[in-house]
Amino acid sequence: MRPEILYPLFAPLTVLPGVGPKLAPLVERLVEGGHVVDLLWHLPSGMIDRRFSPPLTEAPEGRICTFVVRVLEHHTGFGPRSPTRVVCGDGSGGRLNLVYFHLKRGFIEKILPIGSTRVVSGKVEYNYNEPQIVHPDHVGPPEDLESLQRVEPVYPMTAGVQPRVLGKAMLGALGRVPVLPEWMDAPLKARHGWAEWDAALRTAHAPEDEEDLSAMAPARMRLAYDELLANQLALLLVRQSQKRLAGRPLAGDGRLREKVLAALPFALTGAQARSLEEIYADMAEPSRMLRLLQGDVGSGKTVVALLAMLNAVETGAQAAMMAPTEILARQHLATLEPLADAAGVRLGLLTGRDKGKAREALLAELAEGRIDILVGTHALFSEDVAFKDLGMAVIDEQHRFGVHQRLQLAAKGRAPDVLVMTATPIPRTLTLTLYGDMDVSRLDEKPPGRKPVQTRTVSTNRLDEIVGAVDRAVQGGAKVYWVCPLVEESEVSDMAAAEERWAYLREHFGDRVGLVHGKMKPTDKDRVMEAFAGDGLDVLVATTVIEVGVNVPEATVMIIEHAERFGLAQLHQLRGRIGRGDKASTCLLLFAEPLSETARARLTIMKDTEDGFRIAEEDLRLRGGGEVLGTRQSGLPEFKLADLAVHGELLAIARDDARLIVDRDPELQTERGKALRVLLYLFERDEGVKTLRSG
Ligand code: ADP
Ligand code: MG
Repeated sequence: MRPEILYPLFAPLTVLPGVGPKLAPLVERLVEGGHVVDLLWHLPSGMIDRRFSPPLTEAPEGRICTFVVRVLEHHTGFGPRSPTRVVCGDGSGGRLNLVYFHLKRGFIEKILPIGSTRVVSGKVEYNYNEPQIVHPDHVGPPEDLESLQRVEPVYPMTAGVQPRVLGKAMLGALGRVPVLPEWMDAPLKARHGWAEWDAALRTAHAPEDEEDLSAMAPARMRLAYDELLANQLALLLVRQSQKRLAGRPLAGDGRLREKVLAALPFALTGAQARSLEEIYADMAEPSRMLRLLQGDVGSGKTVVALLAMLNAVETGAQAAMMAPTEILARQHLATLEPLADAAGVRLGLLTGRDKGKAREALLAELAEGRIDILVGTHALFSEDVAFKDLGMAVIDEQHRFGVHQRLQLAAKGRAPDVLVMTATPIPRTLTLTLYGDMDVSRLDEKPPGRKPVQTRTVSTNRLDEIVGAVDRAVQGGAKVYWVCPLVEESEVSDMAAAEERWAYLREHFGDRVGLVHGKMKPTDKDRVMEAFAGDGLDVLVATTVIEVGVNVPEATVMIIEHAERFGLAQLHQLRGRIGRGDKASTCLLLFAEPLSETARARLTIMKDTEDGFRIAEEDLRLRGGGEVLGTRQSGLPEFKLADLAVHGELLAIARDDARLIVDRDPELQTERGKALRVLLYLFERDEGVKTLRSG
């Protein structure tokens, strides 16, 4: 249960002054949350300094100034659209014009009566050598001077929310900020000179100069640290509870694995052998395995997964392997089948497409233990899927699943061991925030004999030449992927672009060119993929559906249109589809001018290296914080305050801090432990608290 002290922060936005039922949804969209606390996490991106009050004769052009003036004259225009001008003066002998358009009658008389003294604030412009302010931001009685002469924070905005309205709501929100018990490690706090949480929050909302807006400002650092600590602590607590669920030692006798190893046409790489050692050791422990197998595309994760599953099957248990898409599940099955046959292991396949009698029969076999390894998609989560004894679960391409789903699958067995595989190389900093609850094995060595992929960048203007080159490659027996532009936010237009390109290429390649996109029926998609993998097609036009895992070793050419629109990670994933066989491969990145600086840098990195881990680090650096974390489709964690591009070091400290806490106070019972519970709730990481015995 959320601690009472946080109630004021978790009230709906409508409790704030000026935020009614109409405005609330707009603010909610702006701050990505419906609670007061979400508004508080929305920090200023700029500021307006109203402290500057020069004499009128010295007012500089373009700067925001606050003046105390005497109102001298009103000039109302003749036409309905002509502006109203109010002439003011000050003791310096200077004059100032206040200019208003579209005024209601009587307004000027009311707020700027002739002869009155007024404080006005706004941006000074010059017109015919006289300073003027068009629609001053503030007009008020002289007493306002002090409250007006300050720095106003400026917030990132969206249409529909007036800055002034947001400012008022923010003041209301800040007024609700409670004093919270300190969860921060005292020496750490002292070392950085950080303030209390509530003071830091207030400071972050009240910048005095540009430095205060920087991610490295002490107030912002403290808030970022709090968020990272909540993230790391929650992950470690979940991990602790998972490990505590009695697992069971799984150590097979090796008889099945021996057969598979004998049937493999290659020897394991050093990295594969090392990862397997780590996995077997985990499985042999009585606690549960939670391990991440990280390896670039083509690094050979599948065989590692199979051997790990066989280790479980040898003990009489079952194993499951889950893929994010139907195509991939089928491909895994096809890869595993010959090897499973060699070992006499029984496989099953379960996808969303399986229905009716066949499905029932499969489930019955599964429940009776006549299937050793079940391969499938999300369908494995369905409630009626019951194993006889699930001992080990492999989840492929984890970044498309969440922690929650990971736990769901694990719940299907008696605390089965879990191996998560990801082909998305992730920078070390991000590995911590995403997978802090897991141990990590890295396949950092490619199987031998791979030829590097030649990567070149070409302007889209040269489409004819490119088609000519593709034609020559196809004559030479190559298979070609042709990836179509990613269109923002719309699968439909993705598809349209791909269909158009397909029609165009058909003029050259006739029915040797196929098309796959995300909107196709799975059966149709599979048919096209099979034709491409076999003899039916030379060129495959595709949207990014081919991004994940698809394996056609004969494909040696990849064309990516509008490569400048893809992120680095995505380009890397796509390119990983080629260069899988022993033939030389080529990747052409087509771009349209003008290229932004970042886009140019991305394409250069792609030309320079194939090392996924390096590409991932560069990606993080280029994208900077907010954007990496904001991209939903990437599945990366989203932070509201921390920016991993700059706060990476804080993350490492938070990690160590969280480890110490979990070691010394695993149930969060001490004074600090109790404060940390508040922290977890504050950042809505309560899944961490729920794992505690006395949660
Ligand atoms: P990943 O899933 O990591 O992208 P795969 O498991 O699909 O990679 O393996 C890619 C290709 O490499 C497959 O054709 C596989 O048979 C082959 N392979 C795997 N391990 C080795 C190895 N040690 N030596 C040679 N080829 C290997
Ligand atoms: Mg794979």
